[in-house]
Amino acid sequence: MENKKKHIAILGSTGSIGTQALEVIKSHSDKFVAEVLTANNSVDLLIQQAIEFQPNVVVIGNEDEYDRVFDVLNPHDIKVYAGENALSSVVEMDSIDMVLTALVGYSGLKPTLKAIEAGKNIALANKETMVVAGDLISRMAYEKGVNIYPVDSEHSAIFQCIVGEFNNPIEKIILTASGGPFRGRNRTELENVTVKEALKHPNWDMGAKITIDSATLMNKGLEVIEAKWLFNVDVSKIEVIVHPQSIIHSMVQFEDGSIKAQMGLPDMKLPIQYAISYPQRISSNFPRFNFTDYPSLTFEQPDTNTFRNLDFAFEALKKGGNIPCVLNAANEIAVQLFLEEKVGFLEMSDIIESCMAKMPYICNPLFEDYVHTDKETRIIAKEITV
Ligand code: MN
Repeated sequence: MENKKKHIAILGSTGSIGTQALEVIKSHSDKFVAEVLTANNSVDLLIQQAIEFQPNVVVIGNEDEYDRVFDVLNPHDIKVYAGENALSSVVEMDSIDMVLTALVGYSGLKPTLKAIEAGKNIALANKETMVVAGDLISRMAYEKGVNIYPVDSEHSAIFQCIVGEFNNPIEKIILTASGGPFRGRNRTELENVTVKEALKHPNWDMGAKITIDSATLMNKGLEVIEAKWLFNVDVSKIEVIVHPQSIIHSMVQFEDGSIKAQMGLPDMKLPIQYAISYPQRISSNFPRFNFTDYPSLTFEQPDTNTFRNLDFAFEALKKGGNIPCVLNAANEIAVQLFLEEKVGFLEMSDIIESCMAKMPYICNPLFEDYVHTDKETRIIAKEITV
């Protein structure tokens, strides 16, 4: 008797997480089917993936590319849609069991909300969605009985630590951070670092946006906010510790003082696989960790005088309301401007700080407030640098 396969919609299938998710699906084709694949602009890769995985539907974000994708995939009996709205409507398809949100940044918010509204379980790789509107997302997931499984390695680690703990309270979440490529440097040394240097992450091979976020420690700040909403813990119970080897992916301390850690070589395929196979653990041929290869695992405090973004994230989370949304939008613009070599490395923090000071505070934002806050913050962020 064949078990029913899990049909997965991958939003952002051509990015780093998306391509690795397809590797996982390919190696467990008895369990998973790629039901929907989507990309913004990577037409060639999207077409190649669609021909190999034969999804029911593909969505190309850039509407100008629709004809090209349609002409190739129509003979394969694959439906093709284009545009941002298509993304938000395909997630409602009856044939989808789970939606993997691997979009980058704010763009993930609306389709994720639509998927939750449609009652789909979420494998969440798009942390910005939780940063922008964690309150709204978690409330709606609760109302719809939808589970959100973390794909982010730290949050997967935390999730793996609390599985089997029933309702035992969490005393503390300890998020580990690699420290990024500039760990140990001071502000003077960071004034003139190049985009190329910032894109060289010591342990993880990821997309450009998250790699820059790792270099500034903003990635860890976003993850603090993500952890708050995923695990419903107060900000005072979340700590960040720098662990340059990236072997311990995060830890949970319980009320008896016991600490659980989840360990392994840095490989995103593991948290992706766990998110889509939970509660089962299924086999993998990922390289195994060998303790004697890492005789010393080390830990240090994050240097928030140099990497100010981490403190901004804690501040945004404490203020709440629309301020995490401001933080996120300002950061997306700052990273974009840095990648375009229009601002320096340290100026990214200045942009975020100014936006957080300038944007009006909204205590209990509705969806429209988030949309408005995001839009306004982007305008202000760009004005600062003119
Ligand atoms: Mn992470």
